[in-house]
Amino acid sequence: MRRTNTFVIAPDLDDEECLRRLLDASASFWNELTYERRQRLFAGDPVWEGSDCGDRYKSRLGAATVQTVRRVNDEAWRSFFERRKDHSTSPPGYWGNQDDGRDLRVYLRNDTYTIEWGSRSRIDLLIGQKLKEEFGLGYRERLRLPVRGVPRWNGTRGRLVINYDEVAKQYRAYQSVAVNQSALETSLGETEAAVDIGANNLVACSTSGGSQYLFEGRPLFGQYRAITEHIAALAGKLPEGRRSSRRIKRLYRKRTRQRNHAQDALVRTLVKRLHAEGVATVFVGDLTDIVTDHWCVKVNQKTHSFWAHRRFTDRLSCVSEEYGIDVREVSEAWTSQRCPRCGVRENTVRDGDSFYCQRCQFRGHADLVGARNILAEHASGAVRPMARPVRFQWDNHQWRSTTDAPAEIPTNSARTCELPLE
Ligand SMILES: [Zn+2]
Repeated sequence: MRRTNTFVIAPDLDDEECLRRLLDASASFWNELTYERRQRLFAGDPVWEGSDCGDRYKSRLGAATVQTVRRVNDEAWRSFFERRKDHSTSPPGYWGNQDDGRDLRVYLRNDTYTIEWGSRSRIDLLIGQKLKEEFGLGYRERLRLPVRGVPRWNGTRGRLVINYDEVAKQYRAYQSVAVNQSALETSLGETEAAVDIGANNLVACSTSGGSQYLFEGRPLFGQYRAITEHIAALAGKLPEGRRSSRRIKRLYRKRTRQRNHAQDALVRTLVKRLHAEGVATVFVGDLTDIVTDHWCVKVNQKTHSFWAHRRFTDRLSCVSEEYGIDVREVSEAWTSQRCPRCGVRENTVRDGDSFYCQRCQFRGHADLVGARNILAEHASGAVRPMARPVRFQWDNHQWRSTTDAPAEIPTNSARTCELPLE
């Protein structure tokens, strides 16, 4: 299982110049190689042939790093050729652009760096001979830099990426680690759970043990919308010919970070609960087949741009794997319309958070109805009667549970909770 350790490299001024030169040489090499290959592609020649511009970068990057950056470039091209068959992809691009310059970035093979964690954590990097001479390093010396952060994962170290984050003005490192399976948890039981990604509530979850969880999304949607409007306002004031600005980029990043932070925390909170409850399998609705179906445009927009369904499902699978829980994507078609009591889907009404069946008068929470229907459809074992949902609210740091049932549910919907699933 592969995981990533993320940390910050904090060099002093002299060392920073050296690190910057290393990253810039790497970006320059990448761009030159990419230019060459793109020219060959457009001319109809095989992209793998031609001069090897890597030689000129060895004095700064070292031979091993030239090889590693080229390998990453190869991987990008190979994946482009594979995806090109379905005509939906463009060839690998440059790091950076004309306006802002090169994106500073380097890839390092696992044997060209070492990290020591402790009270003074540090990283030692291999650099080219010419850079060593310029910065007064001995022939066998490596560039040693202080790092900040805590490694989340232990295991066999893999490739390391260092880049310069223009907005945060920081050097960030991402270390790939192969984590040993035996270090992971195993599931404690055979309970099954279903997750529904909602419109107003981010996530509704029901388990065959009868637990229900609701993660409230409105304040987060509100924050997201406010930033989106701010971006639109700034974009409207840009001078002719400019498509973006530093400020706009910063806002996009802020928006994504807030979303990812809440999403990652949600997944971890949910998976820990499910693990403690003995859940072994989670069914998660696959949105693709309902996009054009019955959901209104506004809801689609919300769940797609805000909640980034794919990212959520990937995070859920990733974290579940740590706990020995299996995640299965299943079709979600009709699950939010079908009545969990009588099974009809034609005479049901969804209005905001509430679900009402005109045939049997069943009332319930719309998102929980979705989760329960997914569970009823896919669970292999018995499903116990549902308890009152545990509701979570985001306080910008963590998801806090409240014991109250959601305020939006009318009181007579308590029946939802007592009703066993057929
Ligand atoms: Zn009904």
